[in-house]
Amino acid sequence: MLILTFEKQKTMTEQILMIVAILIIVYFVVRMSKKIPSKLAQDDELKLTEKEELKLSKERKKALNEKVSFYKNLNDKDKLSFEKRVLDFLNEIKITGVDCEAEELDRVLIAASAIIPVFQFPNWSYRNLDEVLLYPLPFNAHFSTEGDDTNIQGMVGNGFMNGKMILSKTSLRQGFQAEFDKKNVGIHEFVHLIDAEDGAIDGIPKVLMKQQFVLPWMNLIYKKINEIEKEKSDIRLYGATNEEEFLAVASEYFFEHHVQFKKKHPELFEILSYFYGAK
Ligand SMILES: [Zn+2]
Repeated sequence: MLILTFEKQKTMTEQILMIVAILIIVYFVVRMSKKIPSKLAQDDELKLTEKEELKLSKERKKALNEKVSFYKNLNDKDKLSFEKRVLDFLNEIKITGVDCEAEELDRVLIAASAIIPVFQFPNWSYRNLDEVLLYPLPFNAHFSTEGDDTNIQGMVGNGFMNGKMILSKTSLRQGFQAEFDKKNVGIHEFVHLIDAEDGAIDGIPKVLMKQQFVLPWMNLIYKKINEIEKEKSDIRLYGATNEEEFLAVASEYFFEHHVQFKKKHPELFEILSYFYGAK
């Protein structure tokens, strides 16, 4: 009886052990089978992201080649560095379409506008920018794109505009469409941000210049604004608004139509070349 009981107990123990062993095996089989598909899914995702990235890069490269003459005129090595900086910019700065889609072309043009003025400064990053808002059309002071007074094509500023830039999508594209019209709203707004790096948007980009150049620069600004006001200049009228607009407008011309700018405004060409590290 006792033996029987023992035998019975032994059998029961064996059975329990067997059940435990089976459970352990089942646990590992289930775990493995779960793991394999999830690993595969991850790999698939990775491949897709890589492919997507390549596709985007091609699209971006195409946009640069077709629309950005500054990029087209670079040598192969500089082109690569420009492409890398486009990628870095797009990873760093949020671009949001407001009532419109921020397409790949728009993103590339915004990045190009940011990089062109600071291309000679490889470590530059826009510390005073975290988001670019893209409006479908020019807007008015109330940020509406409807009405007769919608003449603002781009904007940066302080207060609620801190860290933000607004660009009109049509104006941004137009800026890269007409190569020699001396107008590029993207470059214009980024020049304001460069000017703002020292704490003030005042037409004196202190981060780009030595102190002793401030006074000669101010004198040159007033001389050139005077020429615009007397209609003796081919720098557009908006540049005569004040010192900061003069810097932004003259810089658009400098980057868009380098050769003509040098010929017509040699003194200004020298100092802007110095600011933007081209000399
Ligand atoms: Zn401006």
